Parts: sequence; structure tokens; C-alpha cells
Amino acid sequence: MARVLDGAAIAATIKQEVAEEVRALVERGVRPGLAAVLVGNVAASEIYVSNKVKVCGEVGIYSDLIKLPETVTTAELLELVASLNARDEIDGILIQLPLPKQVDAKTLLDAILPGKDVDGLNPVNAGLLQAGRPALAPCTPAGVIEILKRSGIPMAGQHAVVVGRSDLVGKPAAMLLLHQNATVTICHSKTRDLGAITRQADILVAAIGRAGFITPEMVKPGATVIDVGINRITDRAEFDRFFAGDAKREATFAKRGSTLVGDVHPKAFELAGAYTPVPGGVGLLTVAMLMANTVHAAKMRRASSGGGAK
Ligand code: NAP
Repeated sequence: MARVLDGAAIAATIKQEVAEEVRALVERGVRPGLAAVLVGNVAASEIYVSNKVKVCGEVGIYSDLIKLPETVTTAELLELVASLNARDEIDGILIQLPLPKQVDAKTLLDAILPGKDVDGLNPVNAGLLQAGRPALAPCTPAGVIEILKRSGIPMAGQHAVVVGRSDLVGKPAAMLLLHQNATVTICHSKTRDLGAITRQADILVAAIGRAGFITPEMVKPGATVIDVGINRITDRAEFDRFFAGDAKREATFAKRGSTLVGDVHPKAFELAGAYTPVPGGVGLLTVAMLMANTVHAAKMRRASSGGGAK
């Protein structure tokens, strides 16, 4: 039977470690701080940001939640970023995506000081990551590596296949796996005979954004399957396609009218040697890694400015 890689337990351990680091920093007069910028009224974004702020409180990180209206302009946001770049008590700046369409998201993300870019989306951090130099790596792919490491799954010499090449997940996940000495293949929507490639994977990372896209015949028996996808399904027929006969899911679906499914079909997990469930897998690591990145940013900034905390 496939081993379930427990994202909740790993995220809890990381948060505990971060809280200890924060305590040590506070003793030296430094409290790491995160500014979270929320634009508009996207319900999912509000939930994500309020969770991030809540976890800051749990681990002892100072947080400043800045809410702006849907109509905000790029110029106003750039002004805000400049002020956050200059504020000494802010070590990390998080701008919750997606942004309204009138906002030039690229220009905005580029304006965040690389040392405060705790989401790792600034091209400077992407470049440093590629060069294998210490950088703030995007939180979700960094979480993927933590799950593998902390579950004792070897990466060196393994064939890792990453499906998806976004700047947020696929590309940095591939780069981080490469730095762990995996042999990495990146697949995308133009890849020919995708199944023939995914079937070669010792470690298969799915970051596609399509519910249950990776089917059982695309998985090598015994592979480690990391499902990054988060897709909410509300349609009964789709529910049945993934979860027919699953009493626990049935109860969730009846109660909420929806449930989450990853980019991997649940039947494909049965073939795996180990896998991350959805929910309860990679998603939980993202916030934990944001906390870790904020502490890392606080230490780096003090180290580079000649301050005491290292
Ligand atoms: P994205 O920017 O839409 O990228 C999707 C990638 O999948 C693209 O590179 C695309 O290829 C590829 N793709 C699409 N259809 C494909 C196909 N038929 N065959 C092969 N590749 C295909 O999405 P993302 O931001 O990377 O997110 C991916 C998933 O991860 C989503 O479900 C998202 O919700 C989830 N996610 C989860 C977390 C978390 O905290 N767990 C964080 C971020 C994202 P092309 O480049 O060729 O178009």
C-alpha cells in the first residue's frame, strides 16, 4: 500500500522550528516581520492571506496586513512597495496574487527588494536559484523539497519528472530538484507523449492546474508522486469520476457542495510508493515555507547590513 506523505505533520514541525528561530532572534532584539498585501475582494485570497497572518502570530512573526480596494493602480501599489522596502521592521513582502487586471503585476513584483521577496518571484531570486546561490526560493516548490527530504525519499540520481513550467511552481521545483542531484525532466502542454515520460519518473511532480490529469497509466508503480495541484470541484459527475465509493469525500461534498482534488487522479495514488494527498499535502507546506523564508530574509538582511543577528 502506498505511503501517505503527511503534509500536516511536516508543516507543523517546520513551524515549530521557525518559532524557535524567532525566539532566538527576539532575544537578540530582532523580531522578523511580514507585510501581506491584499487587493480587492477575492474570497480565496482573503482566506489565504488571513491564514498567513494567523500563522505569523503562531510562530511569533510580526505581521502587517494591508488591504487595498479592487480599483488600486500600479502607481499606488509601487508607492506602497517602496515604503515597505524602506521599513526596517518589515523583512518580507507578500503580495497576494492574482491582482486585478489593471495592475502590472510583473513591474510590481520586480519592485520588491530581492532580500524582502519572500515569495521568491523576483527575477533576481529566480536567477540566484538557478545559479545555485543562497536565495529566497518560491514557497510551494521549497515545500516539495522539504516533504521529500523529511520523508527520507532520496533525490540524488533519481529521475524526477516535473509536469508544469510556471515561474511559481514548475520551473523552481525543477531547479531545486536539480540542486538535490536528481536527473530532471520538465514537461508542459507541448510535450509529446507525456505518459511515456511520466512513466519513467521515480519522483513525479504534478503542477498543472487540471483536476485528476495524471491518470494511473501515467505513473510508474512504486514512484513517489507529489501532487501540487489544488482544484475545487463542484460538479456531481466530476465528483463521481474521482471519488465514487469514497464515504469520507461523499460526506464533505454533501456538507460543502464541493471538494478538492489535485492534478493527480486518486486512483493513480494506489500505484505509487508514496504520495502527497490533496488536501493535506503540499498545500500546507506553502505557508510554513513562507514563515521560514521570512526568518531567512530577516537573518540575511541583518547579516548583510552588519547587524548582530545571523
Ligand atoms: P500555471 O501557471 O497555470 O501552470 C500550469 C502548467 O501546466 C503550465 O506550465 C502548462 O504548460 C502545464 N500544462 C497545462 N496543461 C497541460 C497539459 N495538458 N499537459 C502538460 N502540461 C500542461 O499553474 P501553477 O501556478 O504552476 O499551478 C499549478 C497547480 O498548482 C494549480 O492547480 C495550482 O492551484 C496549484 N498550486 C498550489 C499551490 C499550493 O500551495 N499547493 C501553490 C501554487 C499553485 P504551458 O507552460 O505549456 O502552458
